[in-house]
Amino acid sequence: SPDYCLQIITPTCNTTFSYIDTINAEIRPVLLKLMHTSFFKYFKLDLDKQCKFWNAQHFCATKNCAVETLPEEQYNWSEVHDEFRPSKLGEIKHKSASLEAPATCEDLDYSHIDEGHDCVFVDLLANPERFTGYGGAQSFDVWQAIYSENCFPNTNPMSMAAGSEPEQCVEKNLFYRLISGMHASIAVHLSNEYLDPATETFGPNLKVFMERVGKFNDRLANIYFNYALVSQAIVKLGDLVAVADYIKGETGPSKHSELLDNDSTSLPEYTEMVSQITNSLSIEPLFESHLLFDPSAVGPELKNEFRSRFRNVSAIMDCVGCDRCRMWGKLQTIGYGTALKVLFELEDPETQHLLKFRRIELVALFNTFDRLSKSVASINNFKAMYLEHLEDV
Ligand code: FAD
Repeated sequence: SPDYCLQIITPTCNTTFSYIDTINAEIRPVLLKLMHTSFFKYFKLDLDKQCKFWNAQHFCATKNCAVETLPEEQYNWSEVHDEFRPSKLGEIKHKSASLEAPATCEDLDYSHIDEGHDCVFVDLLANPERFTGYGGAQSFDVWQAIYSENCFPNTNPMSMAAGSEPEQCVEKNLFYRLISGMHASIAVHLSNEYLDPATETFGPNLKVFMERVGKFNDRLANIYFNYALVSQAIVKLGDLVAVADYIKGETGPSKHSELLDNDSTSLPEYTEMVSQITNSLSIEPLFESHLLFDPSAVGPELKNEFRSRFRNVSAIMDCVGCDRCRMWGKLQTIGYGTALKVLFELEDPETQHLLKFRRIELVALFNTFDRLSKSVASINNFKAMYLEHLEDV
């Protein structure tokens, strides 16, 4: 497809497909290396949490749906100190919170995070996001619930009632693009690691990719849109938090569990990797979040509604009937939720004094960015496969 402006919220249109492709090719190796470190490869979740919306069954139809969890003795609950506050926020003089502002730091969360003793730890690298066989009415119902009940009305071009006007509000449309981009990114991963029943191996399947994503310009564009949004959150958080110091315990959890005690990556190595990524991402502002939820144009209710709708989407992840899909769905909704919290709350004088982040939010944010980065790399690979296929016919 021709290179075109992604219509992302930027005053000038510097954000194009090819610009993101170039940046992504540059940072992909270092991001991959970072995701292999002890800090980023472990994720905590409750796999048995009940779906609170309908009677969903948690059963895996195939072994590809299963999640391999880590033995309990490897993590130590009593030593989990996993909260941090952006240190530089302490320098800002805060106004006192208004009545409309959320009252506690949890009220600022855009996603649900599993807590308690039913949680397990998983090694993400041992449980890749790929084709699982989950589908049919079960998965359709989950996506349907997300689009029809949780996105704002008239933002989904596919399901708009005849005669209704498309939604003009940028923030409401952003919500739909975010969900559609997450859905499309999941479809890229399952097409890129699709099961070949003949050989029982996983590999790229061009036909599946074209049917689910490649033929739809809007779905492709929404993946790049999410890339711009999440990368901007990483840059913004990096401006306020010495991420590597937190990882190595200078400001964060030094002895979190055996999982982190065995971390062989040093502080200078973490610092180098994180700054290589943030330096490349900050050459051009990819996403101007300060133009959204502008108090002179919209009231505080819109942001509160946006937050509670997204939180609901994250709770729907408990209704996903395949463990592996549920795990990656939870990780990505926490990752996007953290990105939204960074972009929309960090500079809001009404709420920033309440802000706190948890270790798991940092893990989810970077892993979600890695999912998008891998999607962009896979899309380029599929593009090359498609061109080759055209030459053959
Ligand atoms: P679906 O992907 O189920 O889509 C349903 C309908 O939504 C489509 O008919 C179309 O009208 C619309 N639609 C599709 N894509 C978009 C888009 N990007 N934007 C807007 N509208 C769209 N399966 C795996 O194999 N591995 C996984 O890791 C995995 N993770 C999942 C995580 C979650 C949270 C969920 C809900 C499902 C997951 N699935 C996974 C299942 C997968 O997403 C599909 O639902 C399944 O493969 C069936 O696909 P489908 O082609 O029938 O359409």
